[in-house]
Amino acid sequence: MNTNPKIRMTKQRQVILEELCKVTTHPTADEMYQMIRKRLPKISLGTVYRNLEILSELGMVLKLDVGGTQKRFDGHVENHYHVRCTECGCVGDLQMPTDQEIEQQAQSRTDFQIKRHSLEFIGVCPECRDAKKRKVA
Ligand SMILES: [Zn+2]
Ligand SMILES: [Zn+2]
Repeated sequence: MNTNPKIRMTKQRQVILEELCKVTTHPTADEMYQMIRKRLPKISLGTVYRNLEILSELGMVLKLDVGGTQKRFDGHVENHYHVRCTECGCVGDLQMPTDQEIEQQAQSRTDFQIKRHSLEFIGVCPECRDAKKRKVA
């Protein structure tokens, strides 16, 4: 995948990538740390964080800057849309085709070279909806 000879795929980095690709929960660095520790008990939060940053610079993971909360990471790098819960901040994937036309429309209106677009939908997740219902009942 990555052919840059300067970047070594360390064991730690490999494990981080593997674990991130297994989930669709868009974990934060802290949550990643809890997951990675089960496989690499000696790893530090700083190492996890640094490797996530490197992987995102390499384009091997996505870094989601959502709504002023903690950064979340995504092992699925093909463009896709997200939906975020306003109550608990969880982020899910949305299974729908991405809009290529919107990129062409944007390109025709700017001198920037458009590479991709991101779209975030806002809502309330099923768990939070249920919790609200329980409170009312
Ligand atoms: Zn929620
Ligand atoms: Zn995603």
